[in-house]
Amino acid sequence: MKIFFCGATTEVTGSKTFVELPDGLVMIDCGLVQGPDNAQELNNSPLPFSYSEIQHIIITHAHLDHSGLLPRMVKKGFAGKIFCTPPTAKLLRVILLDSANLVEEDFYSEQDVMVTLSMIETVEWDRPTEILGASLKFLPAGHILGASSVLIQSGSKRVLFSGDLGRSDDALIPGPPECPKVDAIIMESTYGGKVRQGDYHKELHTFLDKISREQRVGIIASFAVARAQMLMTLISEFYQRHPEEKVRVVIDSPMMKEASRVYKQYAHLTLKKDHLKEAMEEFEVLEHQREWETLKKKSGPLIILSSSGMLTGGRIKRHLENWQEDSKAILFLPGYQGEGTHGRAFVEGQRQMKTGEDEWLTWTGEVWNSDAFSSHADQNELLNWVGNISKDTHLYLIHGEQESKDAFKNALNKKGFTNVSLPHRGTTLII
Ligand SMILES: [Zn+2]
Repeated sequence: MKIFFCGATTEVTGSKTFVELPDGLVMIDCGLVQGPDNAQELNNSPLPFSYSEIQHIIITHAHLDHSGLLPRMVKKGFAGKIFCTPPTAKLLRVILLDSANLVEEDFYSEQDVMVTLSMIETVEWDRPTEILGASLKFLPAGHILGASSVLIQSGSKRVLFSGDLGRSDDALIPGPPECPKVDAIIMESTYGGKVRQGDYHKELHTFLDKISREQRVGIIASFAVARAQMLMTLISEFYQRHPEEKVRVVIDSPMMKEASRVYKQYAHLTLKKDHLKEAMEEFEVLEHQREWETLKKKSGPLIILSSSGMLTGGRIKRHLENWQEDSKAILFLPGYQGEGTHGRAFVEGQRQMKTGEDEWLTWTGEVWNSDAFSSHADQNELLNWVGNISKDTHLYLIHGEQESKDAFKNALNKKGFTNVSLPHRGTTLII
């Protein structure tokens, strides 16, 4: 088996790895580069293989940095199958259709997304399937609904692609089971250098308590997929235990609504089963302009859950504009804030945000930020995941900033792992 490293080697977006199997070439993950100024250029740059040479694509999970280039590949001539788990297929529909509205029209369109979706072949977890003369198996990886590690067996060699790994105490998604015994692991290291601080239950409860007791307006900017469903479930649970603190909660994001529908359909795969179903229907969803017209005059207590999570677009802006002069309002950012985003600027103390040609808003309320809600395994959890495999297993660290990868390599060496490598874009490997 020959492996070609391409995207997300020393960064955390644009995941792309190629594997040469006995009967052809397969691509594992097909992510968009997001964030850097030259993202567009990177997303347009040629791949090391032609679109027609790539026989099939395997997607670990639906996040855009692992899947967002799919419609572009299809538009450019990729004509193979796209393998993923059934929940990932449903979330891909939500995420890629949204993405078609955000990218340039000539990059890809909604029509390209529809063609892409028709090429998906779903495979359940733990059911080996034949692929190009080798065997493919999806294994649960925690993280978000449907997220998987990918096990490829070719002849006697077994290689595992971790995908993004979830935490062991996620509120909704069971943590990844122990890593199986394999010859090599292509492993993510997003938080390889970090041990998570903070307790998401406590932080959310403090927020809910404050909104209720002090009659405030709370605006939560959340990622529409996974984080929003986790927050809705946790808020619902809190109100069940503290009915006296219940306040009006409004969901304002069409994408959040769609993703919640998928989470509800697959509630049996989560840790909350029954409660999640209830929570997905419990809160008011803003659908029409007239509902917004009445909401915008309201004072607290009130909670609004909207997106995008980094204030880069979506409906969150109208809420910030509307309540910008309410110095008691709280903007809560329970997620990672990428460099260059309004969210990051707010966390760093800026309070102005451009909303139009010559229009600005100035947020006078509070800003709260937390990374306790992250759906990524931290250093300890990553170490535990590989805890029981042979110490001479080859580990190739990708999907992490250089600093995280270096720190994680050190941590692995201390645990006795002797074959840890940090591949770069262009590194090839034969296993
Ligand atoms: Zn992810």
